[in-house]
Amino acid sequence: MIETLKQFSSSTISQALLKQIEQKAGEYKEKFGREPALMEVCGSHTMAVAKTGVKKLLAGKVKLISGPGCPVCVTDQKSIDAMIQLAESDERIICTFGDMVRVPGTNRALIDAKTDGRDVRVVYSPCDAVEIAKENPDKQVVFLGIGFETTIPVLAVALKKADDERVTNFSMWVTTKLVEPILRKLLNEGDVQVDGLLLPGHVSIVLGKYHYQYLVDEYRVPGVICGFEPAELLSGIYKSIELLLNENPEIINSHQHVVRDEGNRQAQLMIDQYFQVCDEAWRGIGVIENSGLDIRDQFIHLNAKSRFDIKAGEPKPTRCRCGEIIRGLIPPEECNLFAKACTPVNPIGPCMVSSEGSCAASYQYLREE
Ligand code: SF4
Repeated sequence: MIETLKQFSSSTISQALLKQIEQKAGEYKEKFGREPALMEVCGSHTMAVAKTGVKKLLAGKVKLISGPGCPVCVTDQKSIDAMIQLAESDERIICTFGDMVRVPGTNRALIDAKTDGRDVRVVYSPCDAVEIAKENPDKQVVFLGIGFETTIPVLAVALKKADDERVTNFSMWVTTKLVEPILRKLLNEGDVQVDGLLLPGHVSIVLGKYHYQYLVDEYRVPGVICGFEPAELLSGIYKSIELLLNENPEIINSHQHVVRDEGNRQAQLMIDQYFQVCDEAWRGIGVIENSGLDIRDQFIHLNAKSRFDIKAGEPKPTRCRCGEIIRGLIPPEECNLFAKACTPVNPIGPCMVSSEGSCAASYQYLREE
């Protein structure tokens, strides 16, 4: 029944699902003595559970923990600092996605460099940056490429375009992240109680359902791949609690109309052709071995890290607690700066900048006025 209902998002359906979740959560509490704790892995889910009211409605019944899947939030200061250094030359144009220009580096954000007259541009697609390079042959155009597996194929398409069209004044500074290593790290450390995972609909389009089997085989943690509409979220939560109650972990694909078991092979091949695994620095967490992708050596001529001699220093500790928030250790409200010194208008950390950030979601939808 739930399988059919999740296709729709009328309030009647959502109400019915809410009731069913409350009942299952009650059963869970009776059996295990506490509320079930589910982590929504991706930033879009974090924003969706806040915006739709699902998180508030389930408060005290189901613990929803924001996870590490907001790509803007996990981008380390060093990459921002490097891009600001690169922007200092009049001979360069720096391009990136919208939210990234407001993400603070150690001292400043790219928007500050732009205010100082540097050529920093927001683009919708990295291919737009390749076009900008073609229109400005006397300038070096550098694209700051961030993202998880959802975005990485798009970066690969831009690299292919630049390579095929021999756009020699284009390069990319890549600081991408992979979902599996950070989930393994969180589950291995066990600092936060995670009973089940709401797995991201869009990343799963690329990765597929089978990719997540390690969660079940190695960690005995169930996962439900679900979409972002209220009924889809509620259905994902319901199924997660049901799996936990049955003590029968498995991966359920509740987003079957777009997620295939084996994922998107073409996107996977594009990733593999242009990228290789590397150690990556995560904001507030540090370097995690084999947790990101960088441009393959074969395409080193498109790698801004090789093209330019930029050395950013180690990030200094700040009062921003995004690192703990990304790992689900604290909610945004526990940061002393939340809604005081740090607001969407004056963000101190990336979790307040990003349209998928936990702090931005809490500020907009969960805060008590
Ligand atoms: Fe960082 Fe601001 Fe969130 Fe605090 S409220 S963790 S300073 S982004």
